[in-house]
Amino acid sequence: MSLREAKKALKRFDVLTLFPGMFQGPLQESILRRAQESGLVEIRVHDLRSWTSDRHHVADDQPYGGGAGMVLKPEPAFEAVDDLRQGQSTKVIVLSPQGIPFSQGMAARLAEEDHLILLCGRYEGFDDRIPRGLQALELSIGDYVLTGGEVPALVVLDAMIRLIPGVLGDSTSSQTDSFAAGLLEYPQYTRPPVYRGMAVPPILLSGDHKAIARWRRKEAIRRTLERRPDLLARAALSGSDRELLAEVEEEGAAPPEAGPARDGKLTTEQ
Ligand code: SAM
Repeated sequence: MSLREAKKALKRFDVLTLFPGMFQGPLQESILRRAQESGLVEIRVHDLRSWTSDRHHVADDQPYGGGAGMVLKPEPAFEAVDDLRQGQSTKVIVLSPQGIPFSQGMAARLAEEDHLILLCGRYEGFDDRIPRGLQALELSIGDYVLTGGEVPALVVLDAMIRLIPGVLGDSTSSQTDSFAAGLLEYPQYTRPPVYRGMAVPPILLSGDHKAIARWRRKEAIRRTLERRPDLLARAALSGSDRELLAEVEEEGAAPPEAGPARDGKLTTEQ
């Protein structure tokens, strides 16, 4: 991508947080740093307290009706968004455990937006008029509660930015990633060919690109069947995929060394 094309593709992300320091490390390393340096994306992290008007820069208050914890006040959030908004092209995201589950598909759609404002909650979260009044997209990164929206905002930024054209050196790598086409990715190996008695599947050393591509597709199907049958049920499988799936089912369970590494005996139900 030429510099001119890159400039044209510039996307802007404004993050509103009470803890801007939490973004320093992650945004200044590796691919996210390079995406900013190359001019493909601009990320600005703002202290929400800059939009408070009292002497102590208070951004939270006690909840009406009583109860534990503090709630983020509407005024700083609305005023910050008013200042940062760039007309129709701006989309506002509120990070919330009550939001729509964030996914690869959502990351791909958001990566096409020109300007996003991400609001990170803290304490008991936002006054409910904030997401409603800002007509924000509320996003959850999973069914658990974190102390704040900073880590979720970084998750969303990272997943989106790597999908922006020009950010990854080889864009095919994101196309074969897990979830990109509805399946988990096939298993990957590197040197040495045998390590602690575990051998790399011989086909990967064969140099036969057609056979390797077939093996990879089949192993992606096997892995998805074993680990995420819910994904496989929804995946758009071609005729040849269905043949590979039939082969996998006929072969039965994968050999133990290819099975998922389960930590202790944790399962998804726990
Ligand atoms: N009281 C809130 C509730 O029960 O829904 C939880 C507030 S949480 C302690 C504080 C902030 O962390 C939230 O406002 C949100 O910005 C962020 N947060 C926590 N868990 C999250 C998740 N799973 N996804 C997205 N944001 C989350």
